[in-house]
Amino acid sequence: MSLKGKNALVTGGSRGIGRAICIRLAAMGAHVYINYVSNPDAARETQEIINDAGGSADVLAFNVADATEAQDAIKQLIKDSGSLDILVNNAGITRDGLMARMKEEDWDAVIDTNLKGSFICAKAAARSMIKKRWGRIVNISSVIGFSGNAGQVNYASAKAGMQGLTKSMAREFATRNITVNGVAPGYIVTDMTRDLPDDIQEKIKLEIPLASLGNPEDVAGAVAYLVSDDGAYVTGHTIHVNGGMYM
Ligand code: NDP
Repeated sequence: MSLKGKNALVTGGSRGIGRAICIRLAAMGAHVYINYVSNPDAARETQEIINDAGGSADVLAFNVADATEAQDAIKQLIKDSGSLDILVNNAGITRDGLMARMKEEDWDAVIDTNLKGSFICAKAAARSMIKKRWGRIVNISSVIGFSGNAGQVNYASAKAGMQGLTKSMAREFATRNITVNGVAPGYIVTDMTRDLPDDIQEKIKLEIPLASLGNPEDVAGAVAYLVSDDGAYVTGHTIHVNGGMYM
């Protein structure tokens, strides 16, 4: 499972699920670029954790929803490091609300960050992968993209859209030895879900056959498989990491 000599970019790698993915890929030997948009301290903390464990990582700030900013940052990364071999589109936000009251800006922000951001970063990263005839792209979607959820039309649409993106890119890039897959987490304990009221958390647990929320490391394990040699013959697929809440 060695990723020695590979460069990996994890968008939104500074906290939560992204942090766990960064730590895991670095432990497998990759040089990891930890992307963030607003919180440099969290990104540096992730970098420190990796360095302390003997891994190597850089911090890279850019907004995935800003095409020019993201493309320029990825171009520079490829110029400086020689290649970008692994991309994990993990950056994501929620702006929940019932549809009748949802503002257009909340729709746009969620689609732009989760879905358009994944397209922008993958497009920029693919240039390097095509040249090298090797690449791994993993899109972090969500169980909500499959099941839908009241109060999350923007998020569910963005995450469902990521399935179409994953499958279409998988078909386009397969001949270049680039695999494109998804990981769809269920409820995972991070800043995104930590503030859910206790009664809601208890209700969620009742819907999960394994009866607990997941950890970021559970998602990182699925990503590790998909980018490793063991996952080389898997493309266009999404692994569900959700304790059985959606089958
Ligand atoms: P967190 O809210 O804990 O972390 C979000 C990360 O994304 C941060 O690193 C944040 O950076 C970064 N980010 C947000 N917006 C942008 C942007 N425009 N450009 C670059 N980076 C950005 O999220 P989670 O770890 O919980 O979620 C990670 C992914 O997993 C998301 O795509 C989410 O939708 C998905 N997911 C999460 C689930 C869960 O239960 N937690 C369930 C299913 C899917 P900064 O701190 O600098 O703002």
